Amino acid sequence: MSDFAALEKRLCTQICRGQVSHAYIFCGRNAEEQALCFAAALLCPSRPISGHVCWHCASCRHVSAASHPDCRFVDPVNGVHRADSMRRLVMEAGLSASMGVGKIFIIRAADKITEEAANTLLKLLEEPAADTTLILLCAQPDALLPTIISRCQLFMLGTDWGLEPQLSPDMLHAAEDFLQDLPRLAIYQVLIKARDFEKDREGQVLFFLCLLKILHAAVRAEIELPMGQAAALRSANMLESCLEMMDKNVNQKLLADVVYLRLWQNSQR
Ligand SMILES: [Zn+2]
Repeated sequence: MSDFAALEKRLCTQICRGQVSHAYIFCGRNAEEQALCFAAALLCPSRPISGHVCWHCASCRHVSAASHPDCRFVDPVNGVHRADSMRRLVMEAGLSASMGVGKIFIIRAADKITEEAANTLLKLLEEPAADTTLILLCAQPDALLPTIISRCQLFMLGTDWGLEPQLSPDMLHAAEDFLQDLPRLAIYQVLIKARDFEKDREGQVLFFLCLLKILHAAVRAEIELPMGQAAALRSANMLESCLEMMDKNVNQKLLADVVYLRLWQNSQR
């Protein structure tokens, strides 16, 4: 367990400042690993300052062995979370922690959930139990109800937004301005905007990458966009698929229209 990655810096900062939220959504490649690190760090008597979880004390060893009484995984049954298991979760969240520090529930595949179960979970998110932290793991956060997403802190972990050539600060500003103004633009103005890079395929890709970077920042709540976190995430996913298509031989003009129109639709709430 000692070769576990260190705890994500932003999570460590929250622990150090005593600003731990009652609910998180972790997505991405390192989501489960980070959830365990976070659980260990929250329950460890010597809370990490550097981001390196101790993994030596009894509490940390129990977390790593999945035997800690206050850190429980909630798995889907036959591929789906049903209402009865969410009701059990609500009941257990109401009990006091066995070891007194707090309770953590890590919900695997949280996007595989029935509507009834999601509503039960939603009640727990609206009225969080004392000393309880919920961590929802999921591959596709946009499959979650927006009402659930909006009540959790969303962390995209270990995702490799790699494809990032030098993005010019001017272009990043233009991309952010565009996303900030978007809800107020009329469709025709959006379509005119889609013509900006008509004869400049490389410029178009760079501007899309700038938009993507801003959207990811909004998903991580580092900046605020009028469309909100959930729509920013939908938009980022859409833009990523479109960027993949840009590599293939698609009609760039048509693709740009689609991107701008979808962004505009996502911005209308
Ligand atoms: Zn420890």
